Amino acid sequence: MQAWESSVLSAGSASDWREQLPALVGDAASWSAPLRPIALKVSRGERLSLQDGVALYNHPNLSEVGRLAHCVRTARFGSYAFFNSNVHVNQTNICVLACKFCAFRRSKKADDAYALDVEAYIDDLAQYADHVDEVHSVGGLHPDWDVAHYAELFRASRERFPHVAIKALTAVEIKHLSQLSNISFAETLSQLKAAGLGSLPGGGAEILDDDVRAIICNGKESSSEYLEIHKTAHELGIPTNCTMLFGTVENLEQRLMHMIQLREVNDETSGFQCFVPYPFLPDHSRLPEAQLATGSEILRTIAVSRLMLDSIPHIKAYRMNIGDELAELALQYGADDIDGTVQKESIMHLAGSTTPLDHDRIRLARLISDAGCIPVQRNTTYERFEIFVPPEPKPRRGLKMASP
Ligand code: SF4
Repeated sequence: MQAWESSVLSAGSASDWREQLPALVGDAASWSAPLRPIALKVSRGERLSLQDGVALYNHPNLSEVGRLAHCVRTARFGSYAFFNSNVHVNQTNICVLACKFCAFRRSKKADDAYALDVEAYIDDLAQYADHVDEVHSVGGLHPDWDVAHYAELFRASRERFPHVAIKALTAVEIKHLSQLSNISFAETLSQLKAAGLGSLPGGGAEILDDDVRAIICNGKESSSEYLEIHKTAHELGIPTNCTMLFGTVENLEQRLMHMIQLREVNDETSGFQCFVPYPFLPDHSRLPEAQLATGSEILRTIAVSRLMLDSIPHIKAYRMNIGDELAELALQYGADDIDGTVQKESIMHLAGSTTPLDHDRIRLARLISDAGCIPVQRNTTYERFEIFVPPEPKPRRGLKMASP
């Protein structure tokens, strides 16, 4: 079992990945005429423009866009594809906001509203703690829970489960806590870090365009507040992910500008470790005007993300949202991470996800190796890695599709 370590900043990416690109991208003549100028830029390690992004979205040959993205992913990570052992514990569904796309939130008086107090949260996590090294906790904006509540929660979790890293609270939750406690974003994050918060998930970015946000999540943090909160976290040594919810009411330019803003923040801070693009799931929620994404659009968006986001190391195919089959395919379209075992998850499943939960490591690793990649278990913040070789499957299926 090969194991190695990296740093939070490089997150396991090869430091000389740009130097690998000419050999991986190969001859300009091997690319179709419309894609050739972009392939040349990629080969030279040049940053792609908004217009390049539009051209990638409009290029008729999706496989070719995926192939180019795969070159960049391979330069950074070779054939490795990452996963971790995690559980989602969503602490409350009570929320003072009502984002139009959200199938999760409830009003305080709803019959199925819930709020796990510290003891109930610990009891919930205890069921999974022997099998995970990360708890991912996001939830509604509870009207009464301030920074002190979350500091107590994180302290209790770390004390009881010191091996379980806490990745918790989206930017809007940080904003809500800072308002309730009447302190700055920096002070909020500092107190939570001191209590045991290890990293922030990237949720809540939706589309970083305030016109789009006014339609789909009115009242949530503004685009600039999302970026400010993440930058503040980075400056305090808290690494974060960033996300993009696509397929609601945005246009292509707004998606690409979303990516451009994120990569510019990371030029300054290097604190975004992973970008997680995921489509809006329509079932049971309220956004009839949504321009729903198709399977090929999901793959293309992952590929375009990889090519546009040259300053963010990891691109995640979020299997909780896009399903195992598409996540597996995405590993050939620029993604290098498929998230974790996820023993329990509510938000995407309430919105209509049918992705199975309780994947053990063996099944997840087989999913990765069937995609032609080498499965690597990582810790939350991409500092520790271990190749995970799944045992050979029983010979129930004679056709092996690919091998790393
Ligand atoms: S997305 Fe978050 S902030 Fe918006 S309604 Fe749902 S739980 Fe509340």
